[in-house]
Amino acid sequence: MEKLTGKSILKGIAIGKILFYQKGEQSVKRVKIEDTQAEIKRYESAREKAVLQLKELYKKAVKEVGEVNAAVFDVHAMMVEDGDYVDSIVNIIETQQVNAEYAVAVTGDNFSKMFAEMDDDYFKARAADVKDISERIVNILSGNENNSGALEEPVIIVADDLAPSETVQMDKEKLLAFVTEHGSSNSHTAILAKTMNIPALIGVSIKQEWNGKLAIVDGYTGTLYVEPDEDILDTLKKKQEEDIKARELLQDLKGKEDVTLDGRKIKLYANIGGVKDVASVLANDAAGIGLFRSEFLYLEADDYPSEESQFMAYKTVAENMAGKKVIVRTLDIGADKQADYFKLDHEDNPAMGYRAIRICLGRTDIFKTQLRALLRASAFGNIAIMFPMIISVNEVKQIKEIVKSVKKELDGQGIPYGETELGIMIETPAAVMISDLLAPEVDFFSIGTNDLTQYTLAIDRQNMKLDNIYDAHHPAILRMIQMTIENGHKHGCWVGICGELGADPELTKTFVEMGIDELSVSPTFILPTRKNIREIKLN
Ligand code: PEP
Ligand code: MG
Repeated sequence: MEKLTGKSILKGIAIGKILFYQKGEQSVKRVKIEDTQAEIKRYESAREKAVLQLKELYKKAVKEVGEVNAAVFDVHAMMVEDGDYVDSIVNIIETQQVNAEYAVAVTGDNFSKMFAEMDDDYFKARAADVKDISERIVNILSGNENNSGALEEPVIIVADDLAPSETVQMDKEKLLAFVTEHGSSNSHTAILAKTMNIPALIGVSIKQEWNGKLAIVDGYTGTLYVEPDEDILDTLKKKQEEDIKARELLQDLKGKEDVTLDGRKIKLYANIGGVKDVASVLANDAAGIGLFRSEFLYLEADDYPSEESQFMAYKTVAENMAGKKVIVRTLDIGADKQADYFKLDHEDNPAMGYRAIRICLGRTDIFKTQLRALLRASAFGNIAIMFPMIISVNEVKQIKEIVKSVKKELDGQGIPYGETELGIMIETPAAVMISDLLAPEVDFFSIGTNDLTQYTLAIDRQNMKLDNIYDAHHPAILRMIQMTIENGHKHGCWVGICGELGADPELTKTFVEMGIDELSVSPTFILPTRKNIREIKLN
């Protein structure tokens, strides 16, 4: 048995086999081959497998994100079998007498360069697709298929680091836990682990040889056991059963009000990253959705999601929530959330860079597409729209003008939309300090404590070395929350918290005392937070 420790993201026990996850971009070696015909056969069977995988992905995506958004997998399946592409690979294997991996990688690079240089946006965009399909075939050939996101059995993923775009593509039903060597507890991958309610450890020295071995992740102590002893296995299996029982006890709180002993009602909402998370929002009986991180729709896709596919996603969520509030945050891409097709320049300081609302106000085509989709979906439920990373009143005024122009466009086309509250995230110190000026402009504030902590304490939330001083309980943060609530209330704005601090049991009472109106937490934390709220006595 090997025993390693790391930092735990979520309490809980996971028991299962390890799957060692490698990044797609591994270097492909050129190897001389004698039997080129056998190599071509090996390539052909990998190609067939890639097509099958893509067809499966297409079916899965149609169910999850609708036909339009899923079409990319259909296009990929066709590209895998494209005559010129296939001929190039076979030709390289035959004439250069090299391994299939190398022939596929070289062909992928050549085709991708050729597409990127074309004077046509459609073909330019295919450059990333051809790279993607080539990577898929190389992964199949070299036995690294886990990179495709399709998991065959429930596994504990062990990886050097995971980007949100990788995490979001994994088959959530088969994920038992994450263990990474790098990454920080405030990263979006950590937040996703909480949303999925799976234990996760960071800062563990990982080994590739663990692949396929049985392991236990103990999220209570931050321990990973590889090939655990019978004793440990028994003890932690019991602990896992106790967890299940404790969760069952919380089930009694379903249907109960979120109200303190002295009658203060709190709106207890959930944070989600996609349409699929609505099931756990409903299962945990949240009163609404306080943060739908819409950028995950963009991270899951290989190209800008169309108005139609976004409309379907927002409409599905709104309809499933049946009149309960659904606050969708507009695109918050950038920093650790990168989608290749945005082609954002490399920045030395991306957390303070071109991201979120800055991109939306710079590229209004993308912003307007999202707003059209959101407003159209608002006719089918109770949608509110929230804007991230605000630092000035001018930004809010610009946003409101754009929203007005999109509404006018819809009016002109006779397309209906509902009443939508507009709100902003308070996640920069600037927004806190001018919250008295921002409040008259909007209907609500939602405090993003994850970024607010990062920007106030000058601590990069991605930097694991600083995890121990990333202190969201710092008095500066608590004072800022208090100030935001006071300024919001003075101007008729309701105020919530959607950062991770909102679920901190040590602070529930403090927030209620400060006058918070709403707490939005990962679905897993709904019932524990309800329990806390119901035990609060203010006077
Ligand atoms: C936050 O910053 O607190 C927040 C909720 O947004 P995100 O974590 O997605 O940056
Ligand atoms: Mg944020």
